[in-house]
Amino acid sequence: MSENWNIRTKLVHKGSRRSQYGELSEAIFLTQGFVYDSAEQAEKRFQDLGEDEYIYARYGNPTTRMFEDRIAALEGAEDAFATASGMAAVNGALMALLKAGDHVVSSRALFGSCLYVLEDVLARFGVEITLVDGRDLAAWEAAIRPDTAAVFLESVSNPTLEVIDLKAVCDLAHAQGALVVVDNVFATPIYSYALKCGADLVVYSTTKHVDGQGRCLGGVVLGKRELIRGPVEAYLKHTGGAMSPFNAWVMLKSMETMDLRVRAQSATALAMAEALEGHPALNTVAYPQLPSHPQHDLAMQQMGIGGTVLTIDVKGGKDAAFKFLNALEIFTISNNFADAKSIVTHPATTTHQRLPDAQKAEIGITPGLIRVSCGLEDSTDLIADLLAGLDSI
Ligand SMILES: *Cc1c(COP(=O)(O)O)cnc(C)c1O
Repeated sequence: MSENWNIRTKLVHKGSRRSQYGELSEAIFLTQGFVYDSAEQAEKRFQDLGEDEYIYARYGNPTTRMFEDRIAALEGAEDAFATASGMAAVNGALMALLKAGDHVVSSRALFGSCLYVLEDVLARFGVEITLVDGRDLAAWEAAIRPDTAAVFLESVSNPTLEVIDLKAVCDLAHAQGALVVVDNVFATPIYSYALKCGADLVVYSTTKHVDGQGRCLGGVVLGKRELIRGPVEAYLKHTGGAMSPFNAWVMLKSMETMDLRVRAQSATALAMAEALEGHPALNTVAYPQLPSHPQHDLAMQQMGIGGTVLTIDVKGGKDAAFKFLNALEIFTISNNFADAKSIVTHPATTTHQRLPDAQKAEIGITPGLIRVSCGLEDSTDLIADLLAGLDSI
């Protein structure tokens, strides 16, 4: 039975729908609208939309549906709603669940735009936000109250690689009746454990490991059908957050190779972290699979691997960091990650530039911090490039 298929089989076959032409590769239904055989059929579709029936691409589309079914099968989720970007998924999940007067507890070490949605958007609509150190279970316990409606966190934080004890936080939230929304980008859909730990909604930017080749923006919200086809779909389909059918096709086809890619990138990341640890030009090398990572045991228990991204902190702050970045030949300077091309990012001056210095320091965005995203190049070439870059400082 297809429910028992292993990951790679699901990633190639799940969700496929074949048209009357019998195409081998899944088709792109690049259409906004759908037509009806009769006025009666149109009326009936609007009354009660059946399984695999469509009325408008903002509500759903066969190619988008194939992608949603494939990623839901991978995650073991009952359902999924695909969105225009990762931020459309984060914003959609939170806006769908919350109302004025609600209280939200979130980890502090977040992607810049996630912080904006919480601190600026939700706060503007009267949602009270409490930020905590995600690694500190006592802080979660103290912050979650009987009127807390939702808990938000990045299971592994971008870019500081803090690992959260997901099962423990879900238990604390559920004990007070709060729903848990997990941004799971760094854990990747391949090593995902969020639903198993009790998360109510899992959110991905599919711009990252799902596309994996730097082409299309996308996102997805996954979870129980009553939440996905209830408040999440209602909010997203009426406010314009849906994924384009073309992007859904790119994501769908990319999933066929995702397991191979993410495993290869993770193996490279580990080799790189091991090669760099202890280098005299570095203050630290952070990677959850290194025994020196403060939450190594938790990361291994939850994710079982370190993922595709590591960080290094170069001695000499911003000047040394820039010298290093500019000396690299294979690595590309970009603010994206999880691409086939290896990428280096200086968060303090790019993705997290907006934050005041005190807030950067609080979440560990130091002037020498560099995020290293491992691509699909040969790992010995990549390591040689990094070592030559460090020599140039
Ligand atoms: C990239 C990213 C997002 C936003 O995704 P987009 O597709 O760029 O909108 C949200 N959360 C995390 C952790 C990310 O890395």
